[in-house]
Amino acid sequence: MSTATPTTRTRLLLDGTGPDREAHLARYGPLPRSGCVDLLTTVQDSGLTGRGGGGFSTATKIRAVAASPRRPVVVGNGLEGEPLSAKDAVLLARNPHLVLDGLELLARALRARSAILALPEAADTTAIGVAAGDRGVEVVPLPGGFVAGQETALVNQLDGGPAMPRDPFTRVTDAGVGGRPTLVLNVETLAQLALVVRYGASWFTSIGVDDDPGSSLFTISGSVRHPGVVEAERGSVLRAVLAAAEPRKIGAVLVGGYHGAWVPASGLGVRLTDRELATYDASVGAGVLHVLDDSACPLAHAAEIVDYLASESAGQCGPCLNGLPRMADDLRRLAAGARDPALPGAIRRLSRLVTGRGACAHPDGSARFVASTLDVFRGHVAAHLEGWCPSAQRRAAS
Ligand code: SF4
Repeated sequence: MSTATPTTRTRLLLDGTGPDREAHLARYGPLPRSGCVDLLTTVQDSGLTGRGGGGFSTATKIRAVAASPRRPVVVGNGLEGEPLSAKDAVLLARNPHLVLDGLELLARALRARSAILALPEAADTTAIGVAAGDRGVEVVPLPGGFVAGQETALVNQLDGGPAMPRDPFTRVTDAGVGGRPTLVLNVETLAQLALVVRYGASWFTSIGVDDDPGSSLFTISGSVRHPGVVEAERGSVLRAVLAAAEPRKIGAVLVGGYHGAWVPASGLGVRLTDRELATYDASVGAGVLHVLDDSACPLAHAAEIVDYLASESAGQCGPCLNGLPRMADDLRRLAAGARDPALPGAIRRLSRLVTGRGACAHPDGSARFVASTLDVFRGHVAAHLEGWCPSAQRRAAS
């Protein structure tokens, strides 16, 4: 199934040719004609996992749809609801045809009824609009929002409904868009799949680590001189990936975005794999790396994030209606120096209470972030309860 093997192993995702398809084919080679069995075998052997946040096995998702007797719908998810992530937008602007290749390969192999690319309506879709042209992919602009890109919320919108997650017990691979089995893959996953099918599973696994092969896009933001998107091998050391962005004085790094967890400055030697990041209850997720300067108060920063998360819920389940605003409020009081020793315990109790009680994982992700904040910044919490902030002292001393 492989064609030419490219000499540059990384930057393949970002060094695209924009909407020019001839240039794209010259750079990456022709799109192979893969049947479903071949494609599934290759993707399975590659160990490719979703690059949108969940990290599920891509082969398992494809297999679930392929097993249905009904012709499925294939959806590229480019909604990128995470505010700290820019990788999908950058990928779509620089390499739209690689994303479309992934959609086309899957649509052909699965004999899909339709192929859809869902994008935020506020996004600049010029490149992808031109590229989609005659490739049989319908580009659908949708309202953005933190939970809008969640798989069932996306399907809901494509069916004309609101950006709210659906009943979690009905999998979209069984009944998604229009009741058809639906395969939803993040746009980076589609681009990775297009490379895997072109160059083969062993090409993909030749970098990364055994249980987490390949590369990923990472969005680096926060206290850095050069924020942006980079491609790096899975298993790269966090410090090395951040170096490209020239970070300032690192207090901690938020890995995985607003539903992620903090890695303290002492942990910058961690490798970016789910196994190693589990030490911090983090995962690679959608590749968000947000640097918090050591002169910024982490509790104040976290309170702002939880406030945002509370405001972004779809407001249809108790944990989001009641739990998240209360958690945001308590965290804000702690950050502001309320000196109430009961606050950390109350916040922890709330984070346990909301976990596993929503129709989607929004409360769970929010609770994980809050728990990580209290764990990693234990010293800050103690100082705030005594009426002072270590970050403010650092600011004053500098
Ligand atoms: S848990 Fe929250 S975000 Fe998820 S469906 Fe319920 S209200 Fe909406």
